[in-house]
Amino acid sequence: MKYNRIVLKLSGESLMGSGQYGIDPNMLTQYAEEIRSIKELGVEVAIVIGGGNIYRGVQAEAAGIERVQGDYMGMLATVINGMALQSALETAGLYTRLMSGIKMEQVCEPFIRRRAIRHLEKGRIVIFGAGIGNPYFTTDSTASLRAIEIQADVVLKGTRVDGVYTADPEKDPDATRYSALSFQEAYEKNLNIMDMTAFTLCQENNLPIIVFDMNKPGNLMQVLKGESAGTLIN
Ligand code: UDP
Repeated sequence: MKYNRIVLKLSGESLMGSGQYGIDPNMLTQYAEEIRSIKELGVEVAIVIGGGNIYRGVQAEAAGIERVQGDYMGMLATVINGMALQSALETAGLYTRLMSGIKMEQVCEPFIRRRAIRHLEKGRIVIFGAGIGNPYFTTDSTASLRAIEIQADVVLKGTRVDGVYTADPEKDPDATRYSALSFQEAYEKNLNIMDMTAFTLCQENNLPIIVFDMNKPGNLMQVLKGESAGTLIN
């Protein structure tokens, strides 16, 4: 196996499935099965989940809520998603721990780096909720930062498309997919793979990113085995 310890980034929106808001239980089950399949390969799995299906800080200002307040609301949304995912993973027979960037003792553990690593070594899936616990960041940045902290081998960014394209493949029929890119190329071409904070953290710490289609059954496993398409940025 090329990667022994991974951070899987899932957006909150991906949990909506075909809905407009919230959590689609079918998506949870589907993701839990995908994750179970790679766990069986012996890979150590940490997950960062977004909150965009429930709340985003940028929405707040339009609603007359102060940005920082909105960001905390967004972070709490990621904990709700984390709890839902934890539950689905446990139903699939996996051992999990939810660790939060904001203390909420009755619900989950606080994020403690050494403890997170220990959970992974023991075969538990660690879900990082509440982002990094600070406003003005995103869960993409959380994925990059946590991956560096726990010395993961790669960040896998699950999306609806199977990689990074020359143009938006949902709009431009001539768009072609990159199989691999350097950080520099991605930056120069303005490819918007992650926000700049997240992207730069990966670049500066030589942490590769793989963008892949999380919704295609079996694909996560194939990506990890190096059998499937996706775009590798390194
Ligand atoms: N957020 C934050 N700090 C963090 C992570 C998240 O303030 O470290 C807030 C931010 O408002 C963001 C929201 O939580 O809009 C939800 O996260 P994100 O937008 O990254 O979720 P995704 O787009 O992946 O669903």
